[in-house]
Amino acid sequence: MPFETPISFENIYALQMEGFYVPWESAKVPSPRIIQFNEDLAKELGLNENDLNSELGTEFFAGNEMPIGSSPLAQVYAGHQFGGFSPQLGDGRALLVGEVIDQNNQRRDIQLKGSGPTPFSRRGDGKAVVAPVLREYLIGEAMHALGIPSTRALAAVTTGEQIVREELEPGAILTRVASSHIRVGTFQFFAARGDTEKIQKLADYSITRHYKELEDYPEKYLELLKAVMRKQAALISNWVAVGFVHGVMNTDNMTISGETIDYGPCAFIDDYNPQAVFSSIDEQARYAFGNQPNIAQWNLARFAETLIPLIDPKDSDNAIKLATDELNQFPHLYQQYWLEEMQAKLGLLALEDSEVDLINGLYQAIEGQGVDYTKLFRRLADAARGDDEGLLGLFNDSSSIETWLKNWLEQLSSNGNNLEKIADKMDSVNPIYIPRNHLVEQALQAASKHADYEPFKKFLSVLMHPYEKHDDLQAYEEPASKESGPYVTFCGT
Ligand code: AMP
Ligand code: MG
Repeated sequence: MPFETPISFENIYALQMEGFYVPWESAKVPSPRIIQFNEDLAKELGLNENDLNSELGTEFFAGNEMPIGSSPLAQVYAGHQFGGFSPQLGDGRALLVGEVIDQNNQRRDIQLKGSGPTPFSRRGDGKAVVAPVLREYLIGEAMHALGIPSTRALAAVTTGEQIVREELEPGAILTRVASSHIRVGTFQFFAARGDTEKIQKLADYSITRHYKELEDYPEKYLELLKAVMRKQAALISNWVAVGFVHGVMNTDNMTISGETIDYGPCAFIDDYNPQAVFSSIDEQARYAFGNQPNIAQWNLARFAETLIPLIDPKDSDNAIKLATDELNQFPHLYQQYWLEEMQAKLGLLALEDSEVDLINGLYQAIEGQGVDYTKLFRRLADAARGDDEGLLGLFNDSSSIETWLKNWLEQLSSNGNNLEKIADKMDSVNPIYIPRNHLVEQALQAASKHADYEPFKKFLSVLMHPYEKHDDLQAYEEPASKESGPYVTFCGT
């Protein structure tokens, strides 16, 4: 029996987008339990947290009971995976339950991930297991706390099932909240079938949902491309600023909204290294830390291709030229966002040539020095306060930073600026606590192998306040010991 909940669904995708999904039902699971419920997000969504953090809520998060007003469906999409095109993907283990309008009047998708097989499951079982579900919960929420656009986690439940992976693993379901689940790959699905009508429908839907200001533009489809390019340039600059490596930037994992989505093999760098790759399956280093802006541009070119028939329906050469001119702007666009990130991280008051030189000079100074990327910026703020010991201690050879440090401090204190104030401002944008890979792994192992969720819960609470130092949380600041060897992630399914 469906239960009465206070969720007021308004399912526009289901109503308006026939042909973009199949209505589908979740599998039933034996004995669901909530691991984590996100009270703050529930409030933001205008949901009653007491009703959801309950037995009935648990049945909903497990897919056993669908609330009144929901219209569960599996969305279709395609995508380039590691450069090769798969024309038929889709929600193979997820269901869009419905949409709600949140407290800020924004439409948000509520999706169950791990809710059983769908027509798009291919050889997969449609299920998810504890470790990857909690990884997505932990890192998605950490990204949000860092001010980086991301899908969110409303709840994680165990299902009481044992799921076959390399070993048997406890089953789990994530309730994911997104400003939409429209991907570059959603457009590609219809482009691959030559269905221009559907592409136009999807483009119009995307504009209304995410870029309403473009609705009346005469060249709104070219504007849509530009808007998504801006969102992605900003997003990738956010990632790079905190040392995030997504790990699987396939076009089906790139959103039109500009939110980070799918935290499978992601990781954070410790030492600064543009070549850093963590995913075991990324053998060509396609998705290396420093290659993410290039890949974003590549993915956006695939998006642009789908829009060609809309950009100029009469003259595809002209449409291709217009789109190409825009795409060629991406490196510049990205660079601008990235410089602004760096400006804030380094407390620079302007962004003229001399500041840009300083930013670039820092990267030369840390190259090959084994410097922890996260600590670097907090220690720089300490140096601005007059204590450079911690900073110099990060370097294999501290002479590599001395000249740069002198120049930077001179630049900061020109015009009689208050260095103390600048340092405080730097600390408000440079996190102390990030999801350090080894700590993520420890928390997930405890949860998955021993049903001990405390390390996960504690770490989550630390990551919710990434900029506030707490002396008793020293262990959460530290990178993995060098002896532990390189960190490897596996595509979480
Ligand atoms: P991902 O690499 O997680 O972005 O997923 C790529 C594709 O594989 C998507 O179409 C997913 O729905 C599908 N997929 C991933 N894991 C499973 C699974 N366990 N069962 C069915 N489909 C899956
Ligand atoms: Mg995906």
